[in-house]
Amino acid sequence: MAEDLLVDPETDPWATYAVDPGLSRRLTARVVCAPAPETVLTHTPMTGAPLARLPQSTPGDVTVAYASARSAQRSWSRTPMPQRARIFLRFHDLVLERQSELLDFMQLETGKARMHGFEEIADTAMVSRHYARRAAGYLRPHRRPGAFPLISRPVELRHPKGVVGIVAPWNYSLSMSITDAIPALLAGNAVVLLPDNQSALTALAAVGLLYEAGLPEGVLQVVLGDGPTVGGAVFELADYVCFTGSTATGRLVAQNAARRLVGATLELGGKNAMYVAEDANIGKAVDGAVQACFSSAGQLCISIERLYLHQLIADEFLDAFVVAVQSMRLSPALTFDADMGSLVSAAQLKKVIAHVEDARSKGAVVLAGGRARPDIGPYFYEPTVLADVTAAMDVRDEETFGPVVSVYRVSSDDEAIRRANESDYGLNASVWTRDVARGRRIGRLIKAGTVNINDGYAAAWASVGAPMGGMKSSGLSRRHGSEGITKYTESQNITAQHVVGFTPPFGLSAERWARTLTVALGAMKRAGIR
Ligand code: NAD
Repeated sequence: MAEDLLVDPETDPWATYAVDPGLSRRLTARVVCAPAPETVLTHTPMTGAPLARLPQSTPGDVTVAYASARSAQRSWSRTPMPQRARIFLRFHDLVLERQSELLDFMQLETGKARMHGFEEIADTAMVSRHYARRAAGYLRPHRRPGAFPLISRPVELRHPKGVVGIVAPWNYSLSMSITDAIPALLAGNAVVLLPDNQSALTALAAVGLLYEAGLPEGVLQVVLGDGPTVGGAVFELADYVCFTGSTATGRLVAQNAARRLVGATLELGGKNAMYVAEDANIGKAVDGAVQACFSSAGQLCISIERLYLHQLIADEFLDAFVVAVQSMRLSPALTFDADMGSLVSAAQLKKVIAHVEDARSKGAVVLAGGRARPDIGPYFYEPTVLADVTAAMDVRDEETFGPVVSVYRVSSDDEAIRRANESDYGLNASVWTRDVARGRRIGRLIKAGTVNINDGYAAAWASVGAPMGGMKSSGLSRRHGSEGITKYTESQNITAQHVVGFTPPFGLSAERWARTLTVALGAMKRAGIR
């Protein structure tokens, strides 16, 4: 692919300078940046070829983005909810209709297999549909019980926070860039979004579709740049912070939010466990484990990196699992034929190699994979299964964020639960058993924000009406469901007091008023008032 800049930065400072002319033509959303910005060249992990020359925003540009967003937010917050919702229902349709070009961007930027990209198409459509249909209900004014029936009448209102700052990682380039923005926008906020440079084209394509769906100009601003400088500037001005990324960066973001006293959602790392009980359907559990461990080459926060097998079925499961893993098709093709794609970068490949080699050198057994595949693409690595992993090995407790799973044998549900909870993380877990009631009992005892029974991760993720997020070092707050939108609002209690107030009426002494209230409180408890 020869470098062929389509737009002269001197004359069109807003453009994204895609190296591939076909890709550039499809982008309509703009990056907020000054004329003649610095640029960064990205490459596709599929082949290593240049992909896009991206303009970089400065902290000053972030200030400009916030000013425009604040001005646009004032009229957006007054736009009636049905009108807002219609935009997101149109966006839902556009995402499905234009999925092919979105999938091209996703695959070229992240290296993932097309099927794994499709998960993000479905996720984005489902989140859009859900909040378009449910935002009004989640946010409508609620009458609440007052101090005294009929006398104190509170109404709870929800107001938008203002401008929400969102910083997103590269791994789920569509989902992570846009699905947190959807409820924020529907709640009447504006958004300033910083996608990772490695996922900028996908994010800009999605933002372009939102504007095409009718989002008013200025309500969603995109800036690009490095995390510490430009991401720091995004969070410095945000009325609410939404961060998805590593736990290490999440801690810095949390410190900053605490200093500024603004709310924050932190969606962070995981070291997720799957338990296969002795009564599980082994064929389904094997298929589920292949998907859960190797989707997006394991670069998925909720993917499974620890596999606990009941000793009664461990051999049967492993025999089938190893064969299934060894027969996975790796390919850089932009088609649905591959089972797994590439890692995103040299840094990710280096980390995966380091974890596997550290484990191998300390006595782990490689049951499948364990090799880089430069013959397929520069950052391809085989799906890998490790056994005999011990606490001395980095791969046991650290997030690999790659296609590597360690298998362990357990002798009971209690042991599986204990081992699953032996982690600083608490993002996702999976339990396989034919007895769903048993699965639910086990699930309640696992400290993870989502637990999937007879599925690896997709069941809970796709259930967008229910909350999703991390316990322990995996994060704070939740996306999806009511929490996923009310967090972007300030609640307000407006209470009207009728007939009598809280000061002694009718010339009563304070003492008699206190006695009267004591009788009234006792009567309210006896009457079952809550
Ligand atoms: P990262 O923390 O290095 O970067 C994430 C994003 O934050 C990037 O866009 C980066 O530019 C930006 N950033 C970096 N430093 C910053 C700072 N000081 N202030 C503001 N922004 C900053 O993470 P990564 O390696 O890009 O992503 C992989 C990690 O993300 C993994 O740990 C994975 O588990 C996690 N993740 C979590 C979820 C979830 O929903 N829980 C989803 C996807 C990824």
